[in-house]
Amino acid sequence: MFRKDHFHKGLWSQGGACSFLRHEVDQPPLKIVEGVHECGVCGQFQHVPHLKPGHVLSCARCGETLARRRRTSAIAGPLVFCLSSLALYIVLLVSPLMTLNIFGRENMVSLMSGPVELARQGFGTISILVALASIVMPGVVLVCMALILYGASREVMPMWVRPLLTWYEKLRPWSMIEVYVIGVIVAYTKLVDLALVTLQPGVYLLGGLMVMMAAMDSAFDADMIWKHRSVTKRKGLGLYRAEGRRMPPEKHMLSCHACGLTFVARGPVDNDEDMGDCPRCGQILRRRKRNSFQAALCFLVAAFIFYIPANLLPVMAFIKMGHGHPSTIISGVIQLWEAGLYFLALLVLFASITVPVLKVFLLALMIGCEHRGRASEASLKRLTGLYKVVVFIGRWSMIDVFMISILAAVVRFGFMASVTAELGVVFFAMVVVLTIFAADLYDPRRMWDAAGYNQEVLVPSAQDEGGGVTELQDMEPEKA
Ligand SMILES: [Zn+2]
Ligand SMILES: [Zn+2]
Repeated sequence: MFRKDHFHKGLWSQGGACSFLRHEVDQPPLKIVEGVHECGVCGQFQHVPHLKPGHVLSCARCGETLARRRRTSAIAGPLVFCLSSLALYIVLLVSPLMTLNIFGRENMVSLMSGPVELARQGFGTISILVALASIVMPGVVLVCMALILYGASREVMPMWVRPLLTWYEKLRPWSMIEVYVIGVIVAYTKLVDLALVTLQPGVYLLGGLMVMMAAMDSAFDADMIWKHRSVTKRKGLGLYRAEGRRMPPEKHMLSCHACGLTFVARGPVDNDEDMGDCPRCGQILRRRKRNSFQAALCFLVAAFIFYIPANLLPVMAFIKMGHGHPSTIISGVIQLWEAGLYFLALLVLFASITVPVLKVFLLALMIGCEHRGRASEASLKRLTGLYKVVVFIGRWSMIDVFMISILAAVVRFGFMASVTAELGVVFFAMVVVLTIFAADLYDPRRMWDAAGYNQEVLVPSAQDEGGGVTELQDMEPEKA
């Protein structure tokens, strides 16, 4: 049994003429639409004018940023920050983060110590997760970025930049240096009462790396890199210029999830239909993420089941003079609050306890929305806004996991004082990872689809021109 996906390769170069499946022969050919962009959150297609440097264009319906032109150079700007980040990253790998001194005995930790200690305590999976998010992914992301910028700086952009750019976008959220920094701060505040803690150069390097990577992201304009690759000439594809007030009907249009290129088909495109590979980035073209709702629901149900032991079981134990003090996530928050660190307490409370519940609650609301099939624009806007918050905050729940890895690595004084990870941390890390996947798999545009917002309002066909793409009609662009 062949999977349908095996056949869509090459559809573009052969114009759909040579295919083994009948329905693919009949597949409507696509044209690239210039000057139109789809909002990735609400699914509204909008005209995007030529932006001047420093200008930002937001979605007229939900406020999501559609396009942004940087003032800095498209390659030199991010390259400066990327190379500085790489330099900091390499030095950070061999620098100590902090030392803890108890009764003259000293213990020093670096970025590597956390995962090593977790593995030694028998928490292999958590050790891999921490190592991936704090050591491997930042390195991979930085090398990817350096290669992308090198490729884009050449006159003809090499083919290997394509997968690197799509993978960069996918892997970037898993590089969690900024979350790790907060983990270090929380760990530090828990240690200052216990013993003499000395911050080492690694902490400042870590802070510098966080700032440099944020600057790199802010200076990087993936859209400009994609525009470097002209696909119409190479693939012989047609071009539909949405000039003035003419826009193809919404149901005929789709955009690539990875690179954002917009296409128009001769007829209406089904939401789950496989439309071949994107000629620009090579990813599969579909109007919406396939089975987004079911997949997100599965991950959320699993996350919710793990959420219960994650909060009931202790996540770590502080052993002082042979006596253990196991603590759960909520008792960790209470300790921070009692120590007068209100901001950190609220941050950990929000990231570790509120976010998973918020995600489940939000999905329940979205189920209701999709199921009812009607909702007011204002409530959809609110839900979309909450969805964006959840996607943004999802990775910050890793603070506790990082903190435990640092504490376990630094407090290793045997009978006198030591910190061990407990079973709860495994469940908690599973909750974080599963909810990140759930938010990533869910397609909020389906909510707007179900409420009937992404259907074309057909203008009476009095001025139907006939010939060519006959289905295309004069559209009234919203908030032109
Ligand atoms: Zn929008
Ligand atoms: Zn694409």
